[in-house]
Amino acid sequence: MRIENELKLGFKDVMIRPKRSTLKSRSQVSLERTFTFRNSQKIWTGVPIIAANMDTVGTFEMAEALAKDQIITAIHKHYTLSEWSDFLKNQEDSIYDYIALSTGISKADEEKIQQIVHAHPKINFLCIDVANGYSEYFVGFVKKMRQIFPDKTIIAGNVVTGEMVEELILAGADIIKVGIGPGSVCTTRIKTGVGYPQLSAIVECADAAHGLGGHIISDGGCKVPGDVAKAFGGGADFVMLGGMFAGHDESGGEIVEENGRKYRLFYGMSSQTAMEKHSGGVAEYRASEGKTVRVVYKGAVAETVKDILGGVRSTCTYVGASQLRELSKRTTFIRVAEQENQVFGS
Ligand code: 5GP
Repeated sequence: MRIENELKLGFKDVMIRPKRSTLKSRSQVSLERTFTFRNSQKIWTGVPIIAANMDTVGTFEMAEALAKDQIITAIHKHYTLSEWSDFLKNQEDSIYDYIALSTGISKADEEKIQQIVHAHPKINFLCIDVANGYSEYFVGFVKKMRQIFPDKTIIAGNVVTGEMVEELILAGADIIKVGIGPGSVCTTRIKTGVGYPQLSAIVECADAAHGLGGHIISDGGCKVPGDVAKAFGGGADFVMLGGMFAGHDESGGEIVEENGRKYRLFYGMSSQTAMEKHSGGVAEYRASEGKTVRVVYKGAVAETVKDILGGVRSTCTYVGASQLRELSKRTTFIRVAEQENQVFGS
């Protein structure tokens, strides 16, 4: 047994210190980024936010809405080939910049993505997603996918430490998904005691990835636009959101009404609800169960997008970053007592 004594931090443990700035208004801030991915060598331009590959969030309807703002949707893995074909036949080519095809690592998953990519070769992003990205089998699967799809941009995760980020990048992944346990409907930390405070995971994993020319996604734990800004400030290239995109017209999840108020169900991909819905599918998506919650119905996702992008733009003006690219260089975090952040509900 060993104890690491260095304190690790989550979003709620910090705030971003304001700095002198020459920017007059947040409208001067660009959130667009351009990346060249290390292994696929593909160049991508867009707003580096990703809707999570959960069946209540990563829907085709969500992708259509978010693509208008150049935001990516990681489409959940439960759509069939014919549903993919129906969706793609009505889309312009630009949609391929803003969708990712998600998959697990079972034989059935592998056959399915091969079929979908074969039928729709313009799909670029593949998101290989497991609860525990530390298994050798997973690394082997990433290597195999890199061989089969040499020019696709491969997202792989989830992990939370630098050495595993490096291993996955060297195995052929372009973008590493970082986060174990921070998700709003995740119970991993409760059920297993395993996890890593998300902000420290971002800082350490970004450093490891950037050293090799790779990229990272901060996945999970953002509850408010300020958390998204903190994730970018910590060095995340992309930020993946589940709960913040749940409960909209474009989200999945049953609609329920109580006392005249409308709600939508939002659940973890290994929750009982998801298991029942996709029963007969692969065993467990996440190491431990996720939970099911009701979120207040929020209408069209476009309003939420405005709120998030407005918040991040504003963060940029507070620290004098005219482009999102500069945000992490200009970020100084100050550690705060947790109660300080509770005013924001974070
Ligand atoms: P959120 O933005 O809601 O805080 O977090 C979304 C992330 O939670 C997802 O992208 C995924 O990594 C994670 N997640 C989704 N479903 C489950 C689940 O059932 N269990 C666990 N442990 N994590 C989940």
